[in-house]
Amino acid sequence: MRFRFALALVATMIAAPAMAQDGAGEPRWSFAIHGGAGTIERASMTPEQEAEYRAALDAALTAGEDILRDGGSAMDAVTAAITLMEDDPKFNAGRGAVFTWDGTIEHDAALMDGRNRAAGAITGTSTVRHPILLAQEVMRDGRHVFLSGAGAETFADGTDLERVPNEWFATDARRKSLERLKAEQLSAIDVDYKYGTVGAVALDLEGNMAAGTSTGGLTGKRWGRIGDAPVIGAGTYADNRSCAVSATGAGEYFIRVGVAHEICAKLPIRGILGTQDIADAVMAEVKDLGGDGGVILVTPGGEAVFSFNTPGMYRGRPTSAGVREIAIYGEDE
Ligand code: ASP
Repeated sequence: MRFRFALALVATMIAAPAMAQDGAGEPRWSFAIHGGAGTIERASMTPEQEAEYRAALDAALTAGEDILRDGGSAMDAVTAAITLMEDDPKFNAGRGAVFTWDGTIEHDAALMDGRNRAAGAITGTSTVRHPILLAQEVMRDGRHVFLSGAGAETFADGTDLERVPNEWFATDARRKSLERLKAEQLSAIDVDYKYGTVGAVALDLEGNMAAGTSTGGLTGKRWGRIGDAPVIGAGTYADNRSCAVSATGAGEYFIRVGVAHEICAKLPIRGILGTQDIADAVMAEVKDLGGDGGVILVTPGGEAVFSFNTPGMYRGRPTSAGVREIAIYGEDE
């Protein structure tokens, strides 16, 4: 009986309509971004490299927070930050994405709207300058959620999105990684030390949330491999009732755990455990299976949280409560 009551209570909480800014007080906004997690250690970075990453994170953070502070939408903040990072060759997304085994660049991206759980995702595209905007077009079109390869390119032909030759995305550093991976028979993470996927999550002043993730996947990927980033519920998820999440890491494990949805599903029933504990617990499941990486999330209450089980994660978070943080290494916490 008591069990049934608890279940009913949980069901009521889960089915509760989106609360504008749950609770009293000033409307809040919050925002978080990542540029990948991995073996990112102070000892292996020059001060110049570190400054470049911090400047890139700061630019993406500023783009999103300006929109949110001015009353703009979570969706606009997420796409503004991600399109900037897609153009930045330091990150494994858009220009600067990793190479496939065949020496091409194929992007994955997803975007989700927490208001109604509308979502759009694409995988294996090779000519769309901003894959996150193609995911947005899929979402707006609404007939499908997830498009792949040649079909996604044909869909892009019907949009106004900018197209570029595949070579436009290529960088020497990424080409060398592929060459090393092949010559020394290394895994993607051995050769790159880090995952460089980009992502953003936002809560706007209206209480709406959005999540987006964009990546080139893993160096040397083949056989049409798809990572977690474009898989709704694995690398990307948003639901106004619970949270918005974007992930980076060893995609196969994030898919198996269903990381982004798992975190959002657990949040409405949090009691003793806080948001950070729940995110850490789900990331511990990833680690138990043998995977590594990290997540960023925002909640209706205005929290912006990071959780990662790697030495570092490129990350940033500003909130209306006055938090503003850009960090790289684990010890920056
Ligand atoms: N999660 C991405 C994937 O597995 C890789 C990354 O985070 O950089 O495709």
